[in-house]
Amino acid sequence: MPNRATSLVLFLGSGYSAELGLPTTNALREKLLECSGNDPEVRRREKFISARVSDFWRRVFGWEPGSLTPSLEDHFTQVDLAANSGHHLGGSYSPKKLRAIRRWTIHRVFKLLEIQPTIHSPIEEFLRKIRQRFRVSVVTTNWDIAFERCLDLRKTPFNYGLHAIDVSGRRVATEGIPILKLHGSTNWGYCDCCQKVITLPLGMGQIVVNLRLLLDPDDFRLFKKRSRIATELEQFQVNRCLACPGRMTTRVATFSYRKGLDAPVFQAVWDEARHALAWANRWLFIGYSLPEADIEIRHLLKTTQLARKRPASLSIEVVLKDDPGAAERYARFFGLRDEQVFNCGLGSWINSRLQGYCAK
Ligand SMILES: [Zn+2]
Repeated sequence: MPNRATSLVLFLGSGYSAELGLPTTNALREKLLECSGNDPEVRRREKFISARVSDFWRRVFGWEPGSLTPSLEDHFTQVDLAANSGHHLGGSYSPKKLRAIRRWTIHRVFKLLEIQPTIHSPIEEFLRKIRQRFRVSVVTTNWDIAFERCLDLRKTPFNYGLHAIDVSGRRVATEGIPILKLHGSTNWGYCDCCQKVITLPLGMGQIVVNLRLLLDPDDFRLFKKRSRIATELEQFQVNRCLACPGRMTTRVATFSYRKGLDAPVFQAVWDEARHALAWANRWLFIGYSLPEADIEIRHLLKTTQLARKRPASLSIEVVLKDDPGAAERYARFFGLRDEQVFNCGLGSWINSRLQGYCAK
């Protein structure tokens, strides 16, 4: 009889959310200049952001409509390396302007991620079975809240592995499945003064986009002195922290090769992730491509793998979809055998392997 107390870390990357109908990283890049919204005020603002980001691509990467878009990694890395060291990028972009471009790009990506997941019955079955069989923790690089929404539909409680407050200033419950989001979340506001994380109930959508946490009126005035958008934003005053006089914003690690993981919020989450990875008997990676650039995550995985008394006792299995490059990275990094890396997608893995995985 399998041991119900077996601990499993589900390590989720963007491939998991793509199975639920959310855009892949490539799709985010291709859609980055698309603006949406029926409200004229929202459309005006989003159109302005699209125009400024496309100007940035033209001037920095020689992009033109119809040509290949720059990668999100290059986009954020060039912004971060210049802005964080106080340098200009060419003649047009001061550190202040670069930070505005950075905030707007994250805002836009989060807006593109505001999609209700489509949860097919195999995914429901997968979630039900692994919860019956294992003590589950989730570690993820995903910003989106698709996994939370999967749990919420089944009234399954979850927590983010940190002390968060809600928009009324009350502490958020800490029971349920830990969802440890290594790069932050579309559902985390962050107070730069008291350093608390503020979340919205899932039914109210994503806090960062809904409360316009990354839309600072001053950013719009940097690019247009008499900005109607800035004036409109100033009339929307809900981004004050409820725990202190500070202002709510957010903290996320972007696609940049130089990720900013120094905020206390990340230290708390990464500590919890280290703990979960160290105690788990099994790691199941789904849709995470183990990029070479994720040096901190690769080191977290390697150190927690090797810190156990018998590293070989850890079961590692990987589910990818048509990604031979990622399969090779896993094989090189963990010494995995072919049968431990499944490259035909989650649906097919559920059909052919889930039962055996739970029976082991
Ligand atoms: Zn505060």
